Amino acid sequence: MTESLAASIATLQEMIQDARIVAGFTGAGISTESGVPDFRSPNSPWMRNKPIPFEHFVQSAQARREAWRRKFVMDDLYHEAQPSQGHLGIASLVASGRMPAVITQNIDGLHQASGLSEEQVIELHGNGTYAKCLSCGRRHEINWVRRHFEASGEPPECINCGGILKSATISFGQAMPEEPMRRAQKLVASCDLCLVVGSSLVVYPAAAFPAFAKGNGAQLVIVNREPTPLDEMADLVIHAEIGAVLSAFVS
Ligand SMILES: [Zn+2]
Repeated sequence: MTESLAASIATLQEMIQDARIVAGFTGAGISTESGVPDFRSPNSPWMRNKPIPFEHFVQSAQARREAWRRKFVMDDLYHEAQPSQGHLGIASLVASGRMPAVITQNIDGLHQASGLSEEQVIELHGNGTYAKCLSCGRRHEINWVRRHFEASGEPPECINCGGILKSATISFGQAMPEEPMRRAQKLVASCDLCLVVGSSLVVYPAAAFPAFAKGNGAQLVIVNREPTPLDEMADLVIHAEIGAVLSAFVS
């Protein structure tokens, strides 16, 4: 560890200790260290195919078959992913009582896998570890959908209402989920420190939350391997591996 990284971590520890409410905010970088590919990176398996817009998914059975086929291929790439030091560091901050919840752009469920409850994770882009009915909202397990799909070549219908099942993620063209957006807004409005971990802060509206926290008087800390557009307004920026920084908080 370089001297400057150690000094930055010490500063971050002090800032967290002085804060009353810390809002966590995480992006793909925290999960790439778990082996989950960043779907926006140029070499990502996601980028080999043009995304299926939400409208197309709803209108076309063929698009739905293709979406599910791709989904299962991707799942096989990272089904053994485990929480990283970054996830564990965030989980420790939540357990300490200082961080009421973490807002995440990720859909991989790894914050929950690190021990956080559903209430402690605010998912802006949904969750790819289960499916939801687009009509009645009923949750269906992915493994059940997959068994059905592999047996018949078609995704099953909702067992409750016969509606269309979709992985519980937010697709291109799909509205942002209302309740998580509300909860995220409430958290950033109440925090006095916003800790951004592993987000390039270029995907909106998600990236607006840290900017709002800063504008509302909170301190802003950004931990990311690469520079972000909000670095200039941040009180502390650490460009390093997530695990190298957050492991200092794992208890
Ligand atoms: Zn339904």
